[in-house]
Amino acid sequence: MITRLLPLAPSAIPRAFLALLMVAIPFPVAAEPPAMPIVIAHRGASGYLPEHTLPAKALAHGQGADAIEQDVVMTKDGVPVVLHDTTLDAVSDVAVKFPGRARADGKHHCTDFTLAELRTLALTERLDPATGRQTYADRFPRGYSRFAIVSLEEELDFIAGINHSTGRTVGIYPEIKSPAWHRAEGHDVAKAVVDILHRHGYATKADPCHIQCFEADEVTRIRGELGWQGRLVQLIGGRDQDALVTAEGLARIATVADGIGPPIERVLDAIGKPTDLVERARAAGLAVHPYTLRRDRLPSWAGSFDDLQEALFAAGIDGVFSDFPDLTVAWLRGRTAGRAD
Ligand code: CA
Repeated sequence: MITRLLPLAPSAIPRAFLALLMVAIPFPVAAEPPAMPIVIAHRGASGYLPEHTLPAKALAHGQGADAIEQDVVMTKDGVPVVLHDTTLDAVSDVAVKFPGRARADGKHHCTDFTLAELRTLALTERLDPATGRQTYADRFPRGYSRFAIVSLEEELDFIAGINHSTGRTVGIYPEIKSPAWHRAEGHDVAKAVVDILHRHGYATKADPCHIQCFEADEVTRIRGELGWQGRLVQLIGGRDQDALVTAEGLARIATVADGIGPPIERVLDAIGKPTDLVERARAAGLAVHPYTLRRDRLPSWAGSFDDLQEALFAAGIDGVFSDFPDLTVAWLRGRTAGRAD
């Protein structure tokens, strides 16, 4: 299996050595615009390989990403695994492997399957259930090669292993998915993730780790009740979360979190001009990490992917989620080289 590629057991990696590497990595949260925004590989290098597979994470590392994202959901037996949806249908062969296990909504839910059962599934490129076709037609073709679901701990060990073997520390960026839904299912996903991060040496703001979550009450709980002292990002969604980005909303977020993760559409308007969000967030002391750069899903005003990257970075963001970390890293390096000239 893929995890056998790991060169070392995680316990064999000297924590002190990793800690030394980690403190050298800049993770800006300051009120000043960053000299070099960070590139967060969104679900790995998901523009090239199926999302949340270890190959997608390895590629992101090799492409120069500063951080690699994990979305985290729970299994029936209480193990955090790395998957974007709380259901399995869009990215796996669960309907074929486990007939009769769908709920009344017709979907197969992650929390109805044990880790052992999930390990038997083949992960694939994301499918649009409405059309039966790949969501992104030009990405990794379905049916090629084999990919497996991994637990959060397996992925953290995998990244720590590559950090060790390359000598370059890439951060992690776990998202607590649907905590209220998980609680109704009998799982405390935030506590499970924080416990694992602590065990893997991620604990303070000097460590290269951001926790992210859409649910504001849970962000508050992660900082308070769960005692997380590392970096914390409040994700911002659609119009129903407008209250989070008022002056009062941002000030309240700043009492618990280090940054916000808004959709690009809140940073650039309908013609690609910057809104006032970055400026107002920075005034509140918050970093801004928008989502998501996709070469194959451009806003209508952008003539090219670089048009979009140019406008977004010109808005003064501190980092960005990208499905194509190589292209985003290359753009930023080109900008830096231009400055040096
Ligand atoms: Ca996410």
